[in-house]
Amino acid sequence: MAYVPLPVRQADVGAAVKGLAALGFRGASVTIPHKGAVLEHLDRVDGDAALAEAVNTIVVGVGGELLGYNTDVGGVSAALVDVCGDTLRGAPGLLLGAGGAARAAALALARLGVDLTVVNRTAAAAERLVALTAAAVPGSACRWLRLAELTAAHVAAQRLLVNATSLGMDGAGKVPASLADTVTAGQVVFDVVYTSSETDLLAQARARGATVIGGLEMLVRQAAAAFELWTGRPAPLDVMRHAARQR
Ligand code: NDP
Repeated sequence: MAYVPLPVRQADVGAAVKGLAALGFRGASVTIPHKGAVLEHLDRVDGDAALAEAVNTIVVGVGGELLGYNTDVGGVSAALVDVCGDTLRGAPGLLLGAGGAARAAALALARLGVDLTVVNRTAAAAERLVALTAAAVPGSACRWLRLAELTAAHVAAQRLLVNATSLGMDGAGKVPASLADTVTAGQVVFDVVYTSSETDLLAQARARGATVIGGLEMLVRQAAAAFELWTGRPAPLDVMRHAARQR
């Protein structure tokens, strides 16, 4: 098998997805910014993908049926549970972002029992995310705040800080100083962004004594789950981790 990167323009998402079966693909990963846009072009969408309104894995089924899954939700959970165990129930957590990755993260965090505040630049996306999370995880605590209103006091009140925006990616902007400059020891900082070196947010959090979790472990975990969906075989996690670190 081969796994190849295929950049697709927004206007071509439907045509690209429809072409997968004709081209003989077993499936595809979907990444920024198309995780929401692919939904309407699929024949069926699995539980977590439907709940988060975000698909990161497409499986081409029997007869060319296009099935959408979300393995980011499990990837976030696995990366967090590895480090925090079951200590997050009832803990205050701040989730920066309301895009595809953030919708998956919110679902995972709500299931882990985090008392969640979503912070986003665009209010409509944050409102939608809070509504999705409340519907998906009844009884969960989830509210939102405009990014412009984020203060050091909000950050200081958290046990968990998660960046699920594209801020910190190569070529994107930086995570706001109100977040990065206020991190304290005792907090857990999870940056879903994966770059060749540690992101500025994680480097700063580490220097301040916080526990840090990088995006690479989530990347490997979501990829492992996708591998299993495409092949029906257990994923070689260590081989995948090693390959990811070689980039
Ligand atoms: P989306 O385009 O769906 O969402 C982007 C998010 O970033 C939105 O909340 C957007 O806010 C916010 N944002 C972008 N630019 C700015 C800015 N200048 N100021 C403030 N907020 C901004 O992207 P994804 O959710 O798909 O991806 C986000 C990141 O997560 C990427 O870096 C991606 O690589 C990473 N990722 C990592 C994974 C892993 O396995 N480690 C898996 C999935 C994603 P607004 O709503 O206002 O536009």
